[in-house]
Amino acid sequence: MTNFGFTILKERHIDYDGNDKSIAEYICEREPSFRTCIECGCCSATCTTGNFTRFSLREMNILLKRGENDIVREQISKCMLCGKCTLVCPRGVNTRNVILLAREAFQKQLKNAV
Ligand code: SF4
Ligand code: SF4
Repeated sequence: MTNFGFTILKERHIDYDGNDKSIAEYICEREPSFRTCIECGCCSATCTTGNFTRFSLREMNILLKRGENDIVREQISKCMLCGKCTLVCPRGVNTRNVILLAREAFQKQLKNAV
């Protein structure tokens, strides 16, 4: 490994190779528009839930793509499925379906673990 003369704190590491990206893959297979998200944050800016709680769809999308699923699993049920985020997304991501699929994937994962 190259020695740059500094290191990144362990808690700041993003382990792309080691993380579980199966939830993001499950979503992309069924809702390909998820791939086109540019993480602009328009969805979060208009989010009904985000107005009242600490919930950000932009953050959820980023974490899912990184395979950092724990926070998403915890937070995703907060979404009320109102669909405002879908209306404003400049990339035409079907965000509402992304959320439904993420919930479905987490449930399947849970069932398989039992
Ligand atoms: S508005 Fe669309 S492109 Fe922007 S972060 Fe949300 S899902 Fe991604
Ligand atoms: S569908 Fe969910 S994430 Fe989208 S604006 Fe409504 S509450 Fe927010």
